[in-house]
Amino acid sequence: MEYEAVIGLEVHTELKTNSKVFCGCTTAFGGEPNTHVCPICLGLPGVLPVLNKRVVEFAIKIGLALNCKIAAFSKFDRKNYYYPDLPKNYQISQYDLPIAAGGYLPIEVNGETKSIGITRVHMEEDAGKLLHSGESISRSPYSLVDYNRTGVPLLEIVSEPDLRTPEEARAYLEKLKAILQYTDVSDCKMEEGSLRCDANVSIRPVGSDKFGTKTEIKNMNSFRALQRALEYEIQRQREVLESGGRIVQETRSWDEAKGITVSMRSKEQAHDYRYFPEPDLVPLVIEREWVEEIRRSLPELPDARKERLIRDYGLPPYDAGVITSSRDLADFFDRTVALHPDAKTVSNWVMGELLRLLNAGNLDITRSLIKPAGLAELLRLMDQGTISGKMAKVIFEEMFSTGKDPGTIVREQGLVQISDEGELAAVVDRVLAGNPGVVEDFRAGKERALGFLVGQVMKETKGKANPGLVNKLLKERLGSN
Ligand SMILES: [Zn+2]
Repeated sequence: MEYEAVIGLEVHTELKTNSKVFCGCTTAFGGEPNTHVCPICLGLPGVLPVLNKRVVEFAIKIGLALNCKIAAFSKFDRKNYYYPDLPKNYQISQYDLPIAAGGYLPIEVNGETKSIGITRVHMEEDAGKLLHSGESISRSPYSLVDYNRTGVPLLEIVSEPDLRTPEEARAYLEKLKAILQYTDVSDCKMEEGSLRCDANVSIRPVGSDKFGTKTEIKNMNSFRALQRALEYEIQRQREVLESGGRIVQETRSWDEAKGITVSMRSKEQAHDYRYFPEPDLVPLVIEREWVEEIRRSLPELPDARKERLIRDYGLPPYDAGVITSSRDLADFFDRTVALHPDAKTVSNWVMGELLRLLNAGNLDITRSLIKPAGLAELLRLMDQGTISGKMAKVIFEEMFSTGKDPGTIVREQGLVQISDEGELAAVVDRVLAGNPGVVEDFRAGKERALGFLVGQVMKETKGKANPGLVNKLLKERLGSN
């Protein structure tokens, strides 16, 4: 039987506020354990939470960027459960009246655009972190707890089960990350846990409109992990069904090293949490005026920016998509084009050499030693014929690793291209005189002989000859013009 997957994602993102959601403690990552805490986020008796207005602003911003309706009336609820990283034994979250709902996010996979429904966006507080003395909680004689992260503001963004393949899920998460970064509400560092993703997965026969039993997958710490975990889980469910078994509704954990999902616990239901309205916080009444003010403050979002690059610079949609996938990369591109208006050439260098070196070093564009002015200067040297395209690549790598400007590298390494016609003509004549057989071949119609002669001139000049000029001089002398 042919099966299709039904996937929905729950994404948690830490917000880039200075202080926590219900107290004044810093949200800075790291720090000595239990130094970013106070009686409120430790849940000591008698303390009261005070809502951080910036958290609401960020939630509205993301709600708008995801085309949601912003609630006029919203409230907080307690989600009750016991775990050592949760000092109050409840998490302040939102249950039936989230701040935003009913949106959508367009994604593109294999050139096709698809709209993914956004069920809801809600605000909540993060829990603390357990540090196990062994490799896992079940294999540790004891665990320590760090409450620095307790009370850091989170947004939970829940998608409709509209995703059908692991590629779509990955495209959705990448797009969502781009929007969170463009709007500057989160730094989205998956490795620091500021962007986390759980997936609900089920499969059903193609053509069926009923949902199968779903499992929830946790612990996927990268885009690649998300894709691999979903591929594994879909295949696992298919094998269970094909061998006559039944899918158990449960929470499973992705084991990155083994490349499998393993059962963690049976899936809890919402009623297990005994949600009830948070009595220590008043409900939120959101004024339309404020929402409109936030709407006006939204920056140009990835899709609009992509359209602009296609429209204003004539970039191919593929280039525009890659460049606008990250706000920092798009900013780098825009700043370079402002200095060197040949947009397609800039795009080729950004997508080619720059991304290649960044990926190889696992670096973010913000950590790149090459700045827009440096790349623009390199391209200018190439346009002027001072350096060849081949030299430019060598210089680019040097710029990337040392941060030096291209002019300095050209001077230090004597990389200036020979564009002096008289100087090159002498070399060309020498090469022709030394290779009479090849010259004859060319005259006999062997076009490839020209390539050999160009190569010889480049060899004689240690690669510094201007290749265009070499071609021109050779053709003149061989009488093919
Ligand atoms: Zn605190």
